[in-house]
Formats: sequence, C-alpha cells, structure tokens
Amino acid sequence: MKIALIAHDKKKNEIIELAKKYRDVLANYELYATGTTGTLIMGETGLAIHRMKSGPLGGDQQIGAMLANGELDLIIFLRDPLTAQPHEPDVSALLRLCDVQKIPLATNESSATVMLEALQTGEFFNYKKK
Ligand code: PGA
Repeated sequence: MKIALIAHDKKKNEIIELAKKYRDVLANYELYATGTTGTLIMGETGLAIHRMKSGPLGGDQQIGAMLANGELDLIIFLRDPLTAQPHEPDVSALLRLCDVQKIPLATNESSATVMLEALQTGEFFNYKKK
C-alpha cells in the first residue's frame, strides 16, 4: 500500500497536524510526497518518506507518473483553493489521473480525516476498486 502526501504552502500546517495525529497508521505504509511537504512531515514526525521534486518543479508530475503506472493507492493532496498556483496545470493533471485510475483522493482536511480514519479501522480496505 502506497500513499502520496502533498500540500500547498498554506495547507502545510494542516498536513503536518494530520501526519502527527495519524503517525502510527501512516507508519505501516510506504509514503511518498512532494519535496517540501515530505521534508516538513519527516522533520515533524520522523516518518520515512520518499521525496519527489518540489511540486512547482515537477513533483506533482512525478506523483502523476506513479499514478499512471498504478503504483499508488491513496492520495492526500491538501489544496489551497484561494491562491493561484504557478503549476496549476500539473495539479489538474494529477487530479485527473486519480479519476482515470479510480484512486481515492482527499483534497481537504475533512476528507483526508475520513480516509485516515478508514485506514486506521481497516474500513478502507472494504471498498473494491472496479
Ligand atoms: P511542495 O509541493 O511539497 O514541494 O511544496 C506541493 C505542491 O505545491 O504541489
């Protein structure tokens, strides 16, 4: 089970708090992240994370390539809906690929919490990918 963690700058604190709260469950899985998000989470939690390039420098596309290859099982991508992102095309492409591959995707703190709770209880594994 491979999980990708990404957060836009104004959402970095939220993803760090989520990673701290669900540290024990996340520690059971192989974690990937865009560069800055991964560095911050590793520093705050000690979790081992495979870090890609920073999002604006291609990290979102690297995560997208993994998605296209069927290598990811869950994406938590806390987006900032109120700030223009220079790499918006990469962000859209990543979200689109989640839908193409039917990969669970959480784009805000509430949906991420639902996913992480489901991982913690095991409910997450009851859904069947079609
Ligand atoms: P970052 O990238 O983790 O390197 O900040 C996230 C993004 O903006 O896609």
